[in-house]
Amino acid sequence: MTTATSPARLFDLTGRRAVVTGASRGIGARAAQVLDAAGAKVALVARDKNRLQDVAATLGNESLVLPADLSLPDTAERLAAELDERWGGTDILVNNAGLSRPGPATALPTKDWDDVMAVNLRGMFTLTRCLAPGMLDRGWGRIVMVSSALGLVGEAQAAAYVSSKSAVLGLTRSLAVEWAPKGVTVNSLCPGWVDTDMVSDLLADPRFHRRAMRRIAVGRWGEPPDLDGALLLLASPASAYLTGQAIVVDGGLVAGW
Ligand code: NAP
Repeated sequence: MTTATSPARLFDLTGRRAVVTGASRGIGARAAQVLDAAGAKVALVARDKNRLQDVAATLGNESLVLPADLSLPDTAERLAAELDERWGGTDILVNNAGLSRPGPATALPTKDWDDVMAVNLRGMFTLTRCLAPGMLDRGWGRIVMVSSALGLVGEAQAAAYVSSKSAVLGLTRSLAVEWAPKGVTVNSLCPGWVDTDMVSDLLADPRFHRRAMRRIAVGRWGEPPDLDGALLLLASPASAYLTGQAIVVDGGLVAGW
C-alpha cells in the first residue's frame, strides 16, 4: 500500500503560475487571493487596471496586472504572449470573467446576445486555446471554467446568460476528454447566487429575495469565500483524476425543486 500524500501537499500551489480572469472584483478577486494563499503567483486580468492593482496589493506572492478586454478577438493571443515572456507560461487558468444582459427574450437585442457570448463563451475558449499548449507540453495543467447553477437550470429574463453558461459545460467536457491523456484537467465551477456587483440589485429586490430563500436549502446567499474549497480542489494536484465535471456550489439551490 502506498503512503497517503499529506493534505497540505495535495492543495499546495507553490511555484505554480496562475491566471485569473475577471480578477478586478467579486468571485475573481477572491479566487486570486485563494490561489495566492496556496502558494501560486497570480496574473490578474480584467479591464479596470486600478481595481486590478488594488487586488494585487492584497497578494503575498509575485503577481502580474494585465488589463485586457476579453470581448476583443485578439486579446487572448496578446495575453498568452505576455505571460510567456514574463513567466514562461501558465499552469492554472481560472476563466471567471463574465457578464449578464437580463431582459425579456422577445426584446433581447442581438448585440446584447453577442456581448454576452463574446466574453462568457468565446473569450473563455480563445484564452484557453492560447494557454493550453504550454500545459500540454509540460504534462500538467488545471483549467477551471466558471459556469453557473444557471448552466444547469433555466431562468426567465436570462436567455443569453443561461445559454452561455450551459455552453460552457459542453466546452468543459470536450476539452477535458481531449486533454486528459496529457495531464491537463478541465472542470466547471457552478456557483449559485453569490453576493457580488453582478447581482447586487437583484438580491436587494424583496420579491426575488423571498423567492430565492424558498429555494436555497442553506437559507442564505453565497459569498465569494464559499467557493474557496471547490476552487482550490479544481486548481490543485488534488484533482488529478477529476475532469470534465461541474462542481455546483449553490447552498442546495438546484438539488431541490
Ligand atoms: P462581477 O463582480 O460583476 O465581476 C465580473 C468580472 O468580470 C469583473 O472582474 C469584470 O472586470 C470582468 N469582466 C467583465 N467583462 C469583461 C471583459 N470584457 N473583459 C475582461 N473582464 C471582464 O461578477 P461575479 O459575480 O464576480 O462574476 C464572476 C463570474 O461568476 C462570472 O462568470 C459570473 O457569470 C459567474 N457567476 C456569478 C454568480 C453570482 O451570483 N454572482 C453566480 C454564478 C456564476 P472589469 O469590469 O474590470 O473588466
